[in-house]
Formats: sequence, C-alpha cells, structure tokens
Amino acid sequence: MLRSITRSSSRSSTSQFFRLFRQLPQLSSTTVVGNSGGNIRRVLTPVATGREIFLPRGLRFLSAVSGQFSRSVATQSAASYSGQDEAGKHGFEKVREEFISECKSKAILFKHKKTGCEVMSVSNDDENKVFGVVFRTPPKDSTGIPHILEHSVLCGSRKYPLKEPFVELLKGSLHTFLNAFTYPDRTCYPVASTNTKDFYNLVDVYLDAVFFPKCVDDIHTFKQEGWHYELNHPSEDISYKGVVFNEMKGVYSQPDNILSRITQQALCPENTYGVDSGGDPKDIPKLTFKEFQDFHRQYYHPSNARIWFYGDDDPVHRLGVLSEYLDMFDASPAQDSSKVEPQKLFSGPRRIVEKYPAGGDDDLKKKHMVCLNWLLSDKPLDLQTQLALGFLDHLMLGTPASPLRKILLESGLGEALVNSGVEDELLQPQFSVGLKGVSDDNVQKVEELIMNTLRKLADEGFDTDAVEASMNTIEFSLRENNTGSFPRGLSLMLQSIGKWIYDMDPFEPLKYEEPLKSLKARIAEEGSKAVFSPLIEKLILNNPHCVTIEMRPDPEKASQEEAEEKNILEKFKASMTEEDLAELARATEELRLKQETPDPPEALKCVPSLNLSDIPKETTYVPSEVGDINGVKVLRHDLFTNDILYAEVVFDMGSVKQELLPLLPLFCQSLLEMGTKDLSFVQLNQLIGRKTGGISVYPLTSSVWGRDDPCSKIIVRGKSMVGCAEDLFHLMNSVLQEVRFTDQQRFKQFVSQSRARMENQLRGSGQGIAAARMDAMLNTAGWMSEQMGGLSYLEFLHTLEQKVDQDWEGISSSLEEIRKSLLSRNGCIVNMTADGNSLTSTEKFVGKFLDLLPEKSSGELVTWDSRLPLRNEAIVVPTQVNYVGKAGNIYDSGYELDGSSYVISKHISNTWLWDRVRVSGGAYGGFCDFDSHSGVFSFLSYRDPNLLKTLDIYDGTGDFLRGLDVDEDTLTKAIIGTIGDVDSYQLPDAKGYSSLLRHLLNVTDEERQIRREEILSTSLKDFKEFAEAIDSVRDKGVAVAVASQEDIDAANKESSNFFDVKKGL
Ligand SMILES: [Zn+2]
Repeated sequence: MLRSITRSSSRSSTSQFFRLFRQLPQLSSTTVVGNSGGNIRRVLTPVATGREIFLPRGLRFLSAVSGQFSRSVATQSAASYSGQDEAGKHGFEKVREEFISECKSKAILFKHKKTGCEVMSVSNDDENKVFGVVFRTPPKDSTGIPHILEHSVLCGSRKYPLKEPFVELLKGSLHTFLNAFTYPDRTCYPVASTNTKDFYNLVDVYLDAVFFPKCVDDIHTFKQEGWHYELNHPSEDISYKGVVFNEMKGVYSQPDNILSRITQQALCPENTYGVDSGGDPKDIPKLTFKEFQDFHRQYYHPSNARIWFYGDDDPVHRLGVLSEYLDMFDASPAQDSSKVEPQKLFSGPRRIVEKYPAGGDDDLKKKHMVCLNWLLSDKPLDLQTQLALGFLDHLMLGTPASPLRKILLESGLGEALVNSGVEDELLQPQFSVGLKGVSDDNVQKVEELIMNTLRKLADEGFDTDAVEASMNTIEFSLRENNTGSFPRGLSLMLQSIGKWIYDMDPFEPLKYEEPLKSLKARIAEEGSKAVFSPLIEKLILNNPHCVTIEMRPDPEKASQEEAEEKNILEKFKASMTEEDLAELARATEELRLKQETPDPPEALKCVPSLNLSDIPKETTYVPSEVGDINGVKVLRHDLFTNDILYAEVVFDMGSVKQELLPLLPLFCQSLLEMGTKDLSFVQLNQLIGRKTGGISVYPLTSSVWGRDDPCSKIIVRGKSMVGCAEDLFHLMNSVLQEVRFTDQQRFKQFVSQSRARMENQLRGSGQGIAAARMDAMLNTAGWMSEQMGGLSYLEFLHTLEQKVDQDWEGISSSLEEIRKSLLSRNGCIVNMTADGNSLTSTEKFVGKFLDLLPEKSSGELVTWDSRLPLRNEAIVVPTQVNYVGKAGNIYDSGYELDGSSYVISKHISNTWLWDRVRVSGGAYGGFCDFDSHSGVFSFLSYRDPNLLKTLDIYDGTGDFLRGLDVDEDTLTKAIIGTIGDVDSYQLPDAKGYSSLLRHLLNVTDEERQIRREEILSTSLKDFKEFAEAIDSVRDKGVAVAVASQEDIDAANKESSNFFDVKKGL
C-alpha cells in the first residue's frame, strides 16, 4: 500500500528520443487487482505487456528475484571477499552470510556495532546498482507527518545546503531510479545507477539528507512541503497551500483511493494503520512544526534504520561510506518505540457506510461501491502460506477467466472490480473484493454473490487447467524476472524489507525456490482442492474479522468540503488583528521570496556531479538485422534473454474507416477475451496462460518527424519460452483470426469497464486527459489517440453502452470489418528479440503464421486528416485540485529540431516550472514536454490549486529563458541529466521493442548520433534561441484545464470567458 511515489519526474520531459508513443491503456490489464495504490505494480508492469502481469500480490516482488541477469559485467571480486575483517575495521559485525541462488547473489547481513543499524549487502554482477535506506515511521494521527518529512528531508542538508539537492540530482545525474516512498508504517529512500561514481554521489546525498536535513531547523521547508496559510494582501482571503496538502487533496478526490484508505483504517482501527500516513487534507493543517521536528529526531536514527546495497560495486567500499555517517551516532531506543503492534481480530463482522464526492448529473443510483474486506490473520503468515495465498489470489482474480472476477463481472451487478486482491505488504495480510458502479438496490446482492462464490470455490475447488495456467504464469514471471524500468535490485529490496521491517528474516523473502517446489509437490500429491479450500475456509469464510464497506455517491460532498475549509479559514481570518494580517502577508511574501531566490553558485557546486568526459560520446546501439520471411519484413535483435522469445507483429491501421476508430481498443480487448469456434474464452485464456508468458494487443499512434501522415499501428505482443515458440505463434493466429465477435454480454462488460476506467483517469490523471485533448487539436496522430483514449472516447463509450442493446448485430459486424481491414501480410512487420540460435530456430513458426494471413486487407486506404477545433477548453470534474495545460506546435513557428531542445525542456521542467508551479504555486507537479515527432510543446500541471495563475507562469517561460544566466557547471549538469534519460537502462525485451518503435518512426541510428552530439554541445545561445519558439506557444497555443466548476467559473469571470466549458463528469 504505497502512499505516494513522490517526485518521480512522472512524465519526464525528455525521457528519451522515444518518449513519443501515445500508448493506449492496456485494456486487459488495467482493472488492477488489489486494493493498494499499486504504484509499484504499475511501475513493475513493463510497457505494453498486457495480460500476463497479473502476478498474485504475494508474489509480485518475487518476480524480480529469479533468474540470471541479462548482462554480464566484469565483476569486482565479490566472491573472494570474506567480510569479517574488513567489516570489523569499519565498525560492523557480520551477522549472517548466504549465497542466494534465486538471484545469483551473495548476501551478507551486517550490524553496525555502535548503533545497531542493520545492513544487507548484496553482491552480484548486475550493473544497475541500488542503495536504499528505510526507517520505521508509524504515525499516530492523520496529519501526514511521515509523508511531509519524506518530502522535506530532500530539501537541503548539512553537506548540501541547497534548496533542493534532490532536484539537482534529477537534473544532473545518470540515475536509473531516484525517488522516495511513504508507506503506512515506513519511509524508503532508494537510488540506483549503472555508473559507479554517479551511484556513490547519489548515496552520499541521500545519507546526508536523511540524517542531517536542514528542514528540522528551518520552518520554511515545512511550510512549503507541508502546509501554510497564504495571504497575498490583507484584503484578500486566506488559503491553505503546501505540496503535500495539494497532493493529498488530489488523492482524496478519487473514489477508489478514498475506499482503499477507509478499508485499511476500518480493518485496523487500533494500531498505526488506523490513521493515514499520507495525510488527510482535513488534518494536515493541525500539524505543528514541533511535532514534525520531534518525529525526525525520534525515528530518523541509525538504530531505527535498515540499509540495503545491491549490485556489482565493491562491498567493502559500501561499509566505509556508511561508517562515516553511522559512527556519528550513539544507540537510541527508537527501535522499540517504532514497533508496529498487531491488530487483534474482531469477534464479529462490521459494516461501514461512507459518502464520496460525485459529479452532479451522473446517474447517481448506479454509482455505489461495495467491498468486502478481511484481515486474514493476527500475525504475519509464514512464507509457505503466503505463497499459497498468492496462488489463490491469482486463481480467483488474476485473469479475466478467473472465476471470482468472471462471475462478479458477468453478474451485471456492477461495472468494474474495485479494491480487489490480497495485500500482504503490511504486518498482517488482508483480502478484499468488491464492485463499483453498483445500483442502490443491488448492494446486498453483490455481497451475497461474493460470499456464495467463495463458498462454492471452497466446496468445489478449481479446475486443473486453471491451476496449471496460474502455475505457468507465475513460474514464467519468476524466471523472466522482468521488472520493466524498475531496477531489479530495488524490487528485491522492497521484497526483503517487507519482512525485515518487522524484525523478521530479511533473507527469507528472497528464496522462493524451496517453498515453490514444496507447494507444487503438495498440489501434485493432494490435489489443488486440498491445498486451497482450507485457506478459503479458514482465512475468509470462517474469519470474523470482516468489514463490509459501502460507498455512496454524494454530489454535494465536494462543495461541502470546500465550504467547510473556507469557513475555517474565514473564522481564522476574523480572529486576527490588523497587525496579524499584515504579519501573515509579510510571511507569505518572505516565503515566496525565499523560494524564488536561486541557490548561490557556490552552493550548487557542492552537489557532486560527473564531468562531460565521463559520458560516452557514442549513442547506444541495439543489435538489429532487417530481413524478410515469406515477403514480410522481419527485424531480429540478437540479445541474451535467458531462453525467452519476445515477439511483436505489427499491422497498419491505414485501412480502418474513420468512424470505426473509437471501437479499436474494444476490438483489441475482444480478441483476447472472447472465444473461438472450438474454445470458450476461458479455455483460450487458460491456454495462453499455460503455453506463453502472455499476449497483448493494442493500438499505437504517433506523428512522424518530417511527414504529414501519422504512424498508426496495431501491435500484437507476446512472449514465451523459446521451446514454446510454435504455441506462441499458433495462439497469436487464433487470437487474430479465429476469435468470434459473438458474445454480446461480454462486450457490454468491456464497455462499462472501459467507461469506469476512463472516469477514474479523468479524476486522477487529468493532466493526461488535458494533454491528449490539446494534441488532438494540434495534429492528426493526437486526434486519433484522443478518439481511442481521451474525453472523446469517454463520450463514445456513453453512446456505445446504449447501442450494445439496440444494435449488437451492427457492432459485431463492425468488429469483423475492423479485422478485415487490419489483417494483411502487406505492410505487416514482425519484430523478434532472443539470442541468435533461438531466432533462427523459430523462423519456421513465423513463416507458418504469416502464410495464414490474408495477402491484402479488404478496406481502401484511408487518408487520416482530422483534428478537434482549436479552442481553449475547461473540462468540469468533481475534484479538489486542477490539471492545467497549454500547448502549441513550435515547428509551425519555424523552429528546426535540434538535440539541444531535450536539454532545454528538461531544464525548464526542473527549474522554472518546478520552482513556480510546484514550490511557490503549491501544485504537486508541473512540467513540460516536447514531442519532437510532431513539434508539439506542452506545459502541464497536476494536483494544482491554481488555474489562470499557472497559465501566466507558462507564458513567462520565454522571458525566463532570455533572462537565463547559466554557468558552465549548470549547463554540464543539464546535459548529463539529458543523456541519462536518453541512455536509460533497459532490459533486453525493452531494447528490442524500442528498436522496433524507432524503425516505425523513421529514426535512424545516424540521426540518434547527430542528436546526441547536439545534446553534448548545447550552449547558452541555444537556450536564448529556444525562447522564440516558446513564445509561439504563448501567443498561438491552446489551453485545456481539467478543473472544478467553482474554479472554472472564477477563472472565466476574471478572464472574460477565456475557456469554453465542457462537462467531463
Ligand atoms: Zn508526496
């Protein structure tokens, strides 16, 4: 249950040359199983691998543990290192040492003798090194202390007395991961890098930050990151501002988030989980600076810390670095006061009814949510049981064919699952299952259906094919160990800490081989029913610690909350004297001045950074060979993949009729979730689970640099063990050619699930909706993408929901028509990633697959040329915070693409927008994004308390650039940071996939080398010249905001109706 992954440059401005693709959401995988915020899960999900990512929650981190590492790097002498002598010199004693075959690592647990701080030192040949320090930080109230502290310690420290060393690292390091998380009971500070010098720079900044932060002596940081009263002039109204305050207002605007918070608090009312470590916006303003200081003093101490090192660096050096910090402390009793007490089990079930803020015109009757939740045990489970529970979770809910999921969705009682799955990252495991989009009079029926289904599963067990499919899916994930862009070492750390933080064995969670073997043996001997039925009986059906939560929509709630807050602030103002008011206005001004004054250059110099000479001049290449099989173009990437084949088949969208475009995402989902003539969808699904690592199908669109027509494709992506390649291509063929579009009821479910998902996105990721909208006004690729994943898509889904009942025949034949327009050998491209021998051995299966495709598609080639009308738009949603965007095409102003644009837009995000939109504006984030393929430059903010004010900041960007005075050091950092994005760490499947995308978008290796040289030679002159291009966004750009009715009304009043108002929810 991660509270927040803060500060991730969540949509990093210039991530790579390849930021581009408007990847549509994965239809089959987006209904996230499980009730946590699931941030990690999202990060773990590699781009675009759809359905296979349903790892049981219990196993989700195990996936990161197995297998060999794909790269072999000259290792330092980890193996010959004995540990004890060197450790003693640095003040540590070795507690335990083990070789962990699952991750081919030597792991040593050390204890710092003076303070008792524990250190896991994991050595192997993975170049993606990871460091993390974790404190146990259980809160006593919902003022958000741990969360605000997590933000604040990264705002300057003893050795690095800057406003935000964290931001300096974001700008100028080669990090592959840099962030911090607040859990309900712990706070984690992880970093990762493949460059050893860079890695130790990051480690030192983080260690200094957590142990010696400036924020405990300086109230300004507390005000900025936590909360403060803002008063610009004594005559104006007072408001609350603060980064965490607004971040949490955003969280509390999303019904799913509200539900998961209520769940945790209702299940554990008596221990630390009964409050919100992230902070309830109602309680955050109760937090005092004194409490904040005390919390740091008490918990951010080596005696209460657990530290993790992982990778191919020198293990002795690690201890040396740590001892410099730890030796400065004496032991403290923090360990005892931070212990998490278990929640005692209830003697009987409970029921809670709550309201959540809903939009005005919705059909409120159908907007109830109902969820059943169990605290599964009064103590942590043993690994064996935990593993079995993970399997059970996957069996019941993991795929569209899983019975509990399937029965609930097919019942028609609700539109999507909510909050469902096993949660085992906290002290005691929980299980939840529920539905949203339920009508008032169906609430009880949902509860009964859940209980009856669980009863039935306990009585009858699961069928053998389902068990086998789950088994294969889980084993495949373990073997593949694909953590996407998330470092493997970090995945491992979070897994280990899940036990270690409760004083249990940190090695145990890393070793899954034995328990997995014995679980398999038990299933083989006793049958799956003997294993799983008692678990359902004991942990769920006969467990009295059950809380049913019903959430009712309330159209008044958002405005009520706003009025309450206003009322408190008005009373507060009324209680103040004129002097008080003048003083508050002065303090507001003082804070702003402090925020807007740049750090002095000497201070900036103290943050360690690499030199340009540390950066390779050559761009990185992915081995790539273009050939053909039976006349179809085939790209081959010879990479070590641990015996797994990754394959993509690409079809052109160019013959699909324009009016059918919005049906494409549902077409893709239908391919994977409807049956064939011979197989029901459940059977097909299980077959995919048994034979492959997963298949996904999704549309992809992008502008192409220098071309008018967009790139628009359907991508079929799959993976399997090389030995199962024949099955993989056979199943891809079944999915594409044999699936029949006949299941009206299932299709109807897809529509309502998609609608629920889009509505959730509109509330929680309004910046994405705004960006898509602006893009749709500015270019054709953007328009296509918005039709399939933006507000237009949501509108389409509303109409479609009616149409499914009235004209199913029509829809079914449209789906068939799409298939005929897509499938064709002509224009098809195959992309394969594996080692050379495997690539050769699978060719014949590819050939067979291609032979079965029709020669030509049936449709006429369509010329796409559509856009939304250019206008400033405000989209109304019930929210406490806004999302504000502005964008324009800078190629239209005459700007010509140059690599320096990546450096400059990253710099704008990390300085100008960070300082103005986030730090002084109080938004959770603000950034810009340059799509070099289309030329669209966009500004975006999220969880933003402002609206017009943010647009003014965007408009000031040109002047900011013109007035900029960057010294050599700053420029170097900006360049290095950009190279870090361009060279971001990729696992082999991601390398092969990126190479395919470059091929589709006409980006050659020569061009990449040119851009790299342009990045490396970026000068101040480039910044000044870019100002002109940015001015064109100010003058000709278009603005779109996703915001509350109140804020839109106020903005339109102030700006004589700048925005056209459009209803979102
Ligand atoms: Zn945060």
